[in-house]
Order: sequence, then C-alpha cells, then structure tokens
Amino acid sequence: MIDLKNLTISSAHNSLKNKDFTVLELVEAYLSEISKRNGSVNAYLEIYKNVKEQAEPAQKMFDDGSATMLTGIPIAVKDNILVKGEHASSSSKILEGYTCVYDATIIKKLKEECPVFIGRTNMDEFAMGSSTQTSAYGVTRNPLDESLVPGGSSGGPAAAVAMDGALIALGSETCGSIRQPAAFCGLVGLKPTYGAVSRYGLMSLASSLDQISPIGKSVEDVEILYKSISFHDKEDSTSVVEEKRIVNRPYGKRIGVPESCFNPDLDKEVAASFKASLELLKNAGYEIVTLPMKFEKYALAVYYVVMPAESATNLGRFDGIRYGMRKEGKSLLETYSHSRGLGFGREVRRRALLGNYVLSTMSNGAYAKALKVRAAISGEIFDAFTKVDFIVSPTAPMQPFKLGEKLTDPVAMYLSDVFSAPANLSGCPSIALPAVKFSSGLPGSLQATAPLWCEENLFTFGKEFEKLL
Ligand code: GLN
Repeated sequence: MIDLKNLTISSAHNSLKNKDFTVLELVEAYLSEISKRNGSVNAYLEIYKNVKEQAEPAQKMFDDGSATMLTGIPIAVKDNILVKGEHASSSSKILEGYTCVYDATIIKKLKEECPVFIGRTNMDEFAMGSSTQTSAYGVTRNPLDESLVPGGSSGGPAAAVAMDGALIALGSETCGSIRQPAAFCGLVGLKPTYGAVSRYGLMSLASSLDQISPIGKSVEDVEILYKSISFHDKEDSTSVVEEKRIVNRPYGKRIGVPESCFNPDLDKEVAASFKASLELLKNAGYEIVTLPMKFEKYALAVYYVVMPAESATNLGRFDGIRYGMRKEGKSLLETYSHSRGLGFGREVRRRALLGNYVLSTMSNGAYAKALKVRAAISGEIFDAFTKVDFIVSPTAPMQPFKLGEKLTDPVAMYLSDVFSAPANLSGCPSIALPAVKFSSGLPGSLQATAPLWCEENLFTFGKEFEKLL
C-alpha cells in the first residue's frame, strides 16, 4: 500500500528510484482512489485513455538512470489546458467532444520529463466562477466535506489532489481560480508573476490576467512543478524573456497587512484564523505593519470590467463554425446566436453581455477608465513593496460554503475574489497556504503576495509558515 496522503513529489521520486514501487503501481494506486471517490466528488471529467501507457517511458527513465524529479509523477490537468489527442472543453457544452490538435507549450515541455497526466478535471465553465458549480458537466464536491463546494474555477484540479486522485495538478488563474480552491481544499496554490508561464494552449479567459500554475499539497511540490513550467515561450507574446525575470531582492521579514483585512464585517472565523496565523508569524520574528491602501477597494470592480471585456472578446471565436457545437439557423447570424445561446451556460452569457456592454460606447469608456484605476492599484502595490517584503491577507473572505449557495446571487459569488484581485491586476506573484484551522476543523488559508518575479521568496516564506502550523 502506498501512503498517498503523505506522498510528496520528492518522496515519490526517491521511492521510484529505490524501486519501492514502480511507476505503474503508483499510477494504479491513484486510479484506485479515483474509482472510489470520483463518482461523488466529480473531480475528473475523464481519465486519459493512455494513462497506464504513459507509465512505460517513465519507468524506462528510472531504469536507465535518466529520470528527473517529475518523471512518473501523476498530474491532474484542468479542462482548459490542451493535451494533444485528448478532449478539452473548459467544462462547456459548446466544446463537447473537441479534440486538442496540439499540446500547450507547458505540456509539451513537461512531456520531456515523462510525468503521467492522469486526466482532465472539472472547472467552472470557461473558468468563470468560484465554486465549480457552473460546469456543464455537474458540480464538483469538496473532498474534505462533500456537502461543500471545492472553490473555483480550478475546483476539479484542487479536488483531484485533495481526494488523492493525483499528486499535484495544473490549474489556471485569472483572478483567484488557483488560490481560492487551494484554500477551500486545504492545499497550496500559486499565482505566478504574469508572463512567467506560457499561455499558449491555455483556453483564454482574460488575456491580460491568465496564468497556468500548480495546486499541490506542499510548497515544495508546487515549487518543483512551477520551476518546470516557468520559462520564456516565443509562442506567447506576453511570456517574459529570461533576462527580464531576474530580481535582486533579498529575503526580508517585513509583512504588510492591508487595513481591509481588519474590517469588522469580515467573517468571524476567517478573521480569527487570520489573526492566529499572524500571531504565529510574529512569534517567528516577522514584523507586521498595517497598510492603508487607497485604491485596493476598487480592485474587484476593476476586475469585473476588465475580465468581461477581454473574455467577451476571446469568446468571439466560439461561433458554432470553427469549433464544437453547431445549431443551424436560417441565416449565418441565426446559426451564431443559436449555437452560442445553446452552447454557453448562464454565467458565460452574462459575462459576454457585460463585456460587450463595457466595450460599447454606451458604457461611456468604462474599459479605459478601469485600466486607469488598474494602473493606480498596481502603483500602490509596487509602492507598498518599498516598505514591506510581503503583503499578507486571508485568501478568501469566507469559509468553504455549501453546494447550491450563492448560485442565484452572482455578486455574492464575485466577492470570493476580493483578496485575490490586487495580485492579478498588478501581475504580482501570490501564494495560498494552509493556515490555522477554523473551528469546524476545516483548514484556513493565508495568502502572501510578493513583488514581481519574487516567487523564490514566496516559496521560502511558505516553507517557513508550513513549519509554524
Ligand atoms: N472567480 C473568478 C471569476 O469568476 C475566477 C476567474 C479565474 O481566475 N478563472 O471571474
């Protein structure tokens, strides 16, 4: 029996090297957990057909001594990342049955190390949502308590790891979609610096914000996978060249906490977990200062102008002609509207409407104004980093909520991203870390954000914090 609960990438690597178990045995252990739990959790939409075959070249690498850290490591893949020859649908009906014709750059690169891609996981449709309830293929449940949501939109990847259906997962984040599900499922989730990870082969949501990144059980696991997928890719014009990724910022122990984190209206349990987590840091020698932030409170509003505008534009390609589902009408225009009307779910249609509205003259230049406020928010954050080394907050303003909750109130759902948005808008890297537990016994989550390209400092911070718990 392999102890999947306590397995890490490096312990799995050592065991594979020492022949304690084979790659196939490892994969079979995960498949057996999936067969027990996926029926109710619904983390995976599909297990890749060649999952066991993938074990063969990986095993060979161990046998001939060429294995690297990720060789043979079982990875779950969000349903918006392309894996050649496999289906990917962004959990939307409009892409039902779509087969990927190429590998996302990061998948192609990872294949050199021969990990085992287990399957594609559920998500909010087109990554719009915070609870994995807008998928066209059913909700995903939180493996820690199946009456709760796993967070979203990367709820499938997070649930896959939390139910021991993969050792680590690839998710994507536009605003909170890695960090918040990591928080709800008691995991570590990283939102990298914008431009660190190639978006080529990631279905676009909002192109100025989207990033792929790992969700895992430990900071070290996340760091290992992140380092393999973070490199310049000429296929993505926003991927940053290596020379510009270098930072000269030593590790420091000054922590800034935005004033809003002490708002008396914050959920009591979230506030208590956060306070206790800060206490641990203080006792470990961190200096904590409160940051008055003037523009931060506009972050969510800005996000909900920028994101719909960009996503409405990106969704334009789903017209029933080139991809996926088509419902014929009497004219071309009718074919477009029938296909899109039937293929997209409610939330996607809402955002397409909102996005086209903010881009229209009717909105009085809302998009351009939002970009100005975005610049002010970023400026304020960069300025804060001249005084502190990290900005810390709770990851989400609420505890994991019940399935069915907030579905009829989109604004309540959007509030899940209130602490996430500043890092996405400014491009700064940010990590969600399991933190002091709520009184229910569910894990709390602490979010730490660092200056651009300071992922390394986040990993150091995360590992220190893991030890304090
Ligand atoms: N909750 C965010 C939204 O609904 C999630 C976006 C994301 O990160 N994919 O827009």
